[in-house]
Amino acid sequence: MNFKDGYGTCKWCGQTRTVMRVPVETTQEEMDKIASSECNCEGAEKEREVEYLISTAGASIRKIVQKRSPDAARILQAGAEAVARKYVKKITVNVDGMLTASMYLSSGKIIVESRKTEVYQSDGELEDGMPADEDPGETNAEAEN
Ligand SMILES: [Zn+2]
Repeated sequence: MNFKDGYGTCKWCGQTRTVMRVPVETTQEEMDKIASSECNCEGAEKEREVEYLISTAGASIRKIVQKRSPDAARILQAGAEAVARKYVKKITVNVDGMLTASMYLSSGKIIVESRKTEVYQSDGELEDGMPADEDPGETNAEAEN
């Protein structure tokens, strides 16, 4: 593979930087991208932080949400950038009424949460002293909305 040195312009501050040893086929657009990612200006710094937050959110989503609901995981992952950029305060996905998965920014970190709610409901007609989970069939019928 052949390499070249060139220049790229930071898209945040407009500063031109030397880009060293990139494959010869690297386009100017890619050179600009590299210059932007290597720049030390505030905009580039902020961008790296956003990218870092998105990657930590991704790790949390894979760890906490993925197995329970791949669909919810996909939705949260898609929303991670908006949360990292503070465009959106919190995303909550209600999976099935029992399982919810949320993501929000707190103290500069993206927090991912998964909650499973257990609902107990009684209409007062359960037999005396009978725990609700001893006869699931009958209980379900009585507990229906
Ligand atoms: Zn810059």
